[in-house]
Amino acid sequence: MNHLWSPWRMSYIENHTKEHGCVFCIAQAKTDSEENLIAFRGKNAYVILNRFPYTSGHLMVIPFSHTSNLEELDAETRAEMMELASHCTTILRKVYRTQSFNMGINIGEAAGAGVLGHVHIHIVPRWAGDTNFMSSVGETRVLPEALEDTYRRVRDAFNA
Ligand SMILES: [Zn+2]
Repeated sequence: MNHLWSPWRMSYIENHTKEHGCVFCIAQAKTDSEENLIAFRGKNAYVILNRFPYTSGHLMVIPFSHTSNLEELDAETRAEMMELASHCTTILRKVYRTQSFNMGINIGEAAGAGVLGHVHIHIVPRWAGDTNFMSSVGETRVLPEALEDTYRRVRDAFNA
């Protein structure tokens, strides 16, 4: 059992759409709605719900720029990404009363990055016992809330 690392084993999920182009570039080109799951747009980066969340409220902070490494981004974008990641925890505390989080970045294939070309920060809310009530059957996770409902709650909190 290694609960700390399990949120980052996401490559199978994100690889499903790999052959159709960069999922983040496709999402950011669309109008924000339940379809693209973008909850908030900043100047250089945005917040999106993970379509295959580890827990309800699993968010990602993504730069508009399609780059695979942090060091290819400018300092302003990196700073904004960290501010947005911090704001994500504030929002999740407000909406879900979350007290614990996993936050991390996978860079490169060996690290388990699913979308290799477009760097992103995962913010995963955690609760005591969440690995119990969200039992894994194969790779399908059972979540207590529909993704569309999570989207509306998170988006509304960001834009309140
Ligand atoms: Zn991209």
